[in-house]
Amino acid sequence: EQTQIGFIGLGAMGKPMATNLAKHFTKTLNPVFKLHIYDIVSAPLDDLYSSFPNLIIKCTSPRDVASKSTVIFTMLPSSPQVQSVYLDPSTGIISSSSSPPLLLIDCSTISPSTHLSIKSHFPLSTTFYDAPVSGGVLGAISATIAIFLGCAPSDPLLPLLHTLLSPMASQIIPCGGPSLGLAAKLSNNYLSGTITIACAEAMDMGIRAGIHPFTLQKVFSAGTAQNRISDVFNPVPGVCPDAPSSKGYKGGFRVQLMRKDIGLAVDMARTVGAMNVLGVSTLGVYAAASEATDCKDLDSRVVYRFLGGMEN
Ligand code: NAD
Repeated sequence: EQTQIGFIGLGAMGKPMATNLAKHFTKTLNPVFKLHIYDIVSAPLDDLYSSFPNLIIKCTSPRDVASKSTVIFTMLPSSPQVQSVYLDPSTGIISSSSSPPLLLIDCSTISPSTHLSIKSHFPLSTTFYDAPVSGGVLGAISATIAIFLGCAPSDPLLPLLHTLLSPMASQIIPCGGPSLGLAAKLSNNYLSGTITIACAEAMDMGIRAGIHPFTLQKVFSAGTAQNRISDVFNPVPGVCPDAPSSKGYKGGFRVQLMRKDIGLAVDMARTVGAMNVLGVSTLGVYAAASEATDCKDLDSRVVYRFLGGMEN
């Protein structure tokens, strides 16, 4: 039977990911293959359709996508949208009256427990993976994101998952089992979110003491503080010319999304009984920056500005 793919949620990440899938399947020239897409906003549906008119089928609901697809990807903001797309009794994927899709792959960042609860509503014949991603919008566009898969390295479907995911990603890491892709993603964002604040504070103290920002970055890179935030996404404007901080904190990873992810990570730490000394203060900084008029909607590294860092 022909694989028919669905893609629901065509925002900052989902649209370029779906575009890369469409490009890949256009190249492999499979005439029967179609990509069935849905979003509550019509603009990205129209854009994708006009780029790939022979490939794209615009759908009217998640249920409509599910009735035509054997594999469905979702890339939605957070838990309420994921719950409604999968479980809504009249429009959700679960309400499709045709035989259920074989493979569901949720790339959204939500809590591991919410993922497991949604998964439990589907019959065992439906395989459901968490597959959150890292690498940002630029990574989604250039197909260089990393995907953290909620499955074992020995999962028999891994070769198929590789075929489906590799047009969108440069690294696919099986994290051990169901919901562990999400646990890995939240651990990663907890670390990058706390490092960002530590880097902002360390840069500010060095600059105020009289060290040039370029010299400080070089010192961290040569010393034990070496890290990717300082090297590539330095929060101080001007240090990394291509980073969002040097472009008025435009583009990048929105501070509200970091707030959401740190909140999910703090909840997860509590659930699994992990130590979490930095969680409350980190969450407090991102929550307050998400509300501040000169920071909200900007890249998460704007915490440097929020905390009073020197900007010139
Ligand atoms: P986004 O808000 O840009 O896109 C979400 C899309 O989902 C929008 O197009 C929206 O219209 C659509 N949508 C919302 N509710 C819907 C519904 N009920 N049915 C169908 N479509 C619906 O968000 P994004 O930046 O693409 O992020 C998506 C997910 O990926 C989030 O969980 C985020 O945390 C995660 N993520 C984002 C980035 C990033 O840099 N932006 C990086 C890694 C992971």
